[in-house]
Amino acid sequence: MRLNRFNTNSINVGTTGGGGRFPGGGGGKVGCGTIVIAIIAALVFGVDPMQTIGMIGGSETGQQIEQQAGGQTEEEICTSNKYALETCNALSSLNETWEPVFRSAGVRFQQPMLKFATSDRFRSGCGQAASGMGPFYCPADEGIYIDTRFYDTMERQLGAGGDFARYYVVAHEYGHHIQKLTGVAAQIRSLQQQRPGASNQLQVLMELQADCYAGVWAGKNRNLIEPGDMEEGLRAAASIGDDTLQRNAGQRVNPEGFTHGTSAQRMQALKLGLDSADDTQCDRIVELR
Ligand SMILES: [Zn+2]
Repeated sequence: MRLNRFNTNSINVGTTGGGGRFPGGGGGKVGCGTIVIAIIAALVFGVDPMQTIGMIGGSETGQQIEQQAGGQTEEEICTSNKYALETCNALSSLNETWEPVFRSAGVRFQQPMLKFATSDRFRSGCGQAASGMGPFYCPADEGIYIDTRFYDTMERQLGAGGDFARYYVVAHEYGHHIQKLTGVAAQIRSLQQQRPGASNQLQVLMELQADCYAGVWAGKNRNLIEPGDMEEGLRAAASIGDDTLQRNAGQRVNPEGFTHGTSAQRMQALKLGLDSADDTQCDRIVELR
């Protein structure tokens, strides 16, 4: 996808971590071994951050994890490596694409904050987090958290390479931001509390809607799409379906345990958004009334 270079006026970017060197793209290594990879992949797309971070938190002392200062400008952060640049370009485009949609719908719009993790453990608005969790969205501070080394994992271990696969990750997390702003996220949470038995199913719907929103963004920027992008996006969507992840982890496929949707469902949701370029199509995935 031929995205324009980010515009610092239309993004909100920072870093978070222990103050270490900013991890470079391309050469970073994330933990290895299939179990670790399966866990990373399972967590990629917005398992409830409170749950996942809650699991990781607690064992850390606040001392080790300090807000990274650095005093870097957005320009410096976004150009520190190839993946950071791609992520900032995507964020800029996402803001510019979604802001008018909100405006015309009369819904308050607020940019999310993009936070690059600069260490293996870092602080988020939802508590202490670890890079191994993969990218996530934190509703509490409306932050999208990404360690760019994850993109290497995606490409090398999940077989989901290509720039569009990475844009899809950002656009999916952005989809959770949209759900926060529209109130869908809060409605789902309260439904989950009322009906714990349907909790996973509701989570799946939320993930599929975020996939659909990712597709809408790309569909609204169709003129920037290059040959191969669709395939990259669909391959990424397929590689992180619950059924595929369970199979790869050597488990029997168990629909009850799904929280993100099957590969086919994720591809379908992305395609629905892409083909229609219409966000109201994604409302149909989550019909709350
Ligand atoms: Zn998600």
